[in-house]
Amino acid sequence: MSGNSAVVVGGGIGGLAAAIGLRLAGWDVTVVERADVLDDAGAGISLAANGMRALGALGVGEAVEAAARRQYTGGTRTPDGRRLAAMDGAALERELGAPIVGIPRAALHRILREALPATSLVIGSEVTEVTEVTEGDTTRPPRVRVGVGGTTLEADLLVAADGINSRLRRRLFPTHPGPVHSGSTVLRAITERPVDGLKADFEITWGHGAEFGHIAFPDGTAEWHAVLNAPAGVRYRDPLTEVRRRFGRWHEPIPSLLAATRPEAVLHHDVSELATPLPSYVSGRVALLGDAAHAMTPHLGQGACQALEDAVTLAAALAEARTVEDALARYDAARRPRSQTVARDARRAGRMGQQLAHPLAVGLRNAAIRLTPPGAMVRTVLRHADWTPPRIVPRAAWTQTDDAA
Ligand code: FAD
Repeated sequence: MSGNSAVVVGGGIGGLAAAIGLRLAGWDVTVVERADVLDDAGAGISLAANGMRALGALGVGEAVEAAARRQYTGGTRTPDGRRLAAMDGAALERELGAPIVGIPRAALHRILREALPATSLVIGSEVTEVTEVTEGDTTRPPRVRVGVGGTTLEADLLVAADGINSRLRRRLFPTHPGPVHSGSTVLRAITERPVDGLKADFEITWGHGAEFGHIAFPDGTAEWHAVLNAPAGVRYRDPLTEVRRRFGRWHEPIPSLLAATRPEAVLHHDVSELATPLPSYVSGRVALLGDAAHAMTPHLGQGACQALEDAVTLAAALAEARTVEDALARYDAARRPRSQTVARDARRAGRMGQQLAHPLAVGLRNAAIRLTPPGAMVRTVLRHADWTPPRIVPRAAWTQTDDAA
């Protein structure tokens, strides 16, 4: 199906990727983003092979690879620097057919944005209302009317990519409990300069109820994140001093990463998730996508990768199916089981990793990891990275033979 129109609510990674995919499927797309500046400057992000393959299907894989650093070296350590598990990213790349990379979010966002015509982006506007328009006319397919500020947009499809606190999800699934606090809080930043002695491309270190990790970038700077067990809403007067107090005596390069960070660069967020899975990712002519559909904890580094998978799957279904309803049913069937499994596994990974606090339990876990064969733990973390994107082939591009089949 092509020649139709869609409004995408939210210009995050998921919304922009969906817009690129829908355009490849032959749809007219408008992205509405409430922020004044379309720039997810957050910090950095790891993209596993599945995310990279999704970006490849959207035609931006090479640009992302060029702006990213391949994660070949690193793994997991204990605070005194002892190795728990090593990562061989080159071997994983050969196995999975795509690299695992680290990239500043701002760079990823820019690449996605630049793959769309500026005219398809409406920035600084909040979607406040959505209604299905049938007007009693059963001869016409239903359309969706979207209230944006003082005006309205009408389209054949609405993609709700409005993030973890999705207003559209609340409106469509009013009895769903919404996001809940995971028990963790995260402080993170990008260093202001390259960090001396930064050897590992990606590394995490587990203490007791605490994790410190870094993602290195091509220019030698890095993002670091410090995750702590903490009640919702905890805030520190001076976040960088607090991170130094808790992690400053952990192994190198942690002190060097913190020394290369400006205090005002530190971001602090509680980690929340949709612990209760949604009963559907579709309601009428609305498809939920990304964190709006399946916000998960970051312990497997899969939230954005799953949003990218959503985007490609939705676009491929819309390109292929004969009706929007059929495409949305396929999208829901393909995406809900997989992304909800990944979300569940991310929660479990957090409980066995960063959140594990009792010294005995931590000791037993570490001993068990050391007994596993080399690479086994990294493979467990990356078990969801093996995913092949569907092809986005607009019906107009089908050959006569394809159509007959
Ligand atoms: P968002 O990025 O939240 O975008 C939603 C957008 O919608 C926002 O721009 C918002 O302004 C806009 N919006 C909201 N409401 C409206 C409205 N009514 N009208 C208009 N616009 C609206 N994932 C990975 O794959 N790898 C990682 O390494 C990784 N690390 C992470 C580390 C941390 C600490 C955290 C918290 C998450 C991490 N993730 C990671 C997950 C990833 O960040 C998210 O899954 C991803 O950014 C979700 O993208 P999204 O587009 O669905 O939502």
